[in-house]
Amino acid sequence: MNSAVDVLVIGTGIHGAGVAQAAAAGGYSVRVLEQYSDPARGTSSRSSKLIHGGLRYLEGAHFSLVRESLRERALLLRNAPELVHLTPMHIPLYGHSQRGPLLIRAGLSLYAVLGGMSRENRFQQLPRDDWERLDGLETRGLRAVFRYFEAQTDDAALTRAVLYSAGELGAETLFNAELTAVELTPEGGIAHYQSGGRVQSLSFRALVNAAGPWASGVLEKINPAQSVPAVELVRGSHIVLPGALTAGAYYVESPRDRRAVFALPWDGHTLVGTTEALYQGDPGDVKAPQAEIDYLLETWQHYFKSVSQGPDVGILDDFAGLRVLPSSRGVLSARSRETGLVVDRRSQPRLLSVLGGKLTTYRSTSARVIQRLAGSLPDRSPRADTREIPLR
Ligand SMILES: Cc1cc2nc3c(=O)[nH]c(=O)nc-3n(C[C@H](O)[C@H](O)[C@H](O)COP(=O)(O)OP(=O)(O)OC[C@H]3O[C@@H](n4cnc5c(N)ncnc54)[C@H](O)[C@@H]3O)c2cc1C
Repeated sequence: MNSAVDVLVIGTGIHGAGVAQAAAAGGYSVRVLEQYSDPARGTSSRSSKLIHGGLRYLEGAHFSLVRESLRERALLLRNAPELVHLTPMHIPLYGHSQRGPLLIRAGLSLYAVLGGMSRENRFQQLPRDDWERLDGLETRGLRAVFRYFEAQTDDAALTRAVLYSAGELGAETLFNAELTAVELTPEGGIAHYQSGGRVQSLSFRALVNAAGPWASGVLEKINPAQSVPAVELVRGSHIVLPGALTAGAYYVESPRDRRAVFALPWDGHTLVGTTEALYQGDPGDVKAPQAEIDYLLETWQHYFKSVSQGPDVGILDDFAGLRVLPSSRGVLSARSRETGLVVDRRSQPRLLSVLGGKLTTYRSTSARVIQRLAGSLPDRSPRADTREIPLR
């Protein structure tokens, strides 16, 4: 067996790519294992593709998450201008809307303050004369429309760019390499993985479990047995409809249950999402069920009546991803979106699992992962600062 790598990362979703980049930038030797033949085949190609502050997290008073997200968004707009761009987001408010203009104005004001009052965090209430320019949005019963800015990306392309950057800094990724077992030792551990029909082994000083919805499954492969944190997988579906939104994106309420649903311009088409339903099963098999496709189409057609009607609107694509959320009794949409970093032992951890999280905050999360592991790793000279690295 070769000498131990400093950091072994499982998974090439945005967190695996981000941790590999942060570790390589920190001067550590890095190896990444991915079970599939290319990156971002899990959640990181099935998100709503927003780089966002999370306006609705303000209702749960998650101020630090919103502040962190807006800070990371500003960094991505600067470092990855070809991959991340601002999009006007509209919040139309009707007589039946759950939230009124005063609440939305207060929320957007707080959002702007948390974002440092920069230009991209300003908002406005649109004059009535502008409503007809909103992609055929239903104006009957419309009381007000607010416009602010979110950012959009291609999640898979962003993940590939971060992994490429990690590679440039020296991280090595092995595809078609599925982690099958791990033995922890006092100094780190030995990982066994299936590759090219053979089981191969690799020693490491620290192992980062960035397996997204497979993370609990990865923990079950570790000896000595690890306690598996109580998490649940929550499916979110999207549909892609023909026709591009030209004025920007929309944040509407489902007429059925008043949940927030996005309609976003996406690759010359319209992306509508998302749903929330508990999922039990193989994460690799997740698909959008017909009932969720119908729910999203119904929401879209409720607000954009003049654009598309009938069941034969011609859905171009549908896909679903899995959120990893802490188990609790509450409503799914109200559960914490903070990223969980779980270690095998308090002092000098050998194993760290990334649970949940957001595409938007992958960089700050990855920096925290490496900080948490630094005491278990040899002293190395940093090569770069991930806040400064351009991504393309
Ligand atoms: C419906 C939905 C919408 C979302 N929308 C947004 C959004 O708009 N903005 C935002 O900021 N965030 C959003 N998120 C959150 C964000 O998408 C996720 O937090 C993020 O993509 C998770 O990335 P990850 O790297 O942790 O997991 P994944 O992307 O799932 O990557 C895990 C990787 O691990 C690999 N793997 C698993 N097991 C093994 C093994 N044994 N051996 C080797 N490899 C293995 C998998 O193949 C996979 O490549 C959304 C999430 C969902 C579900």
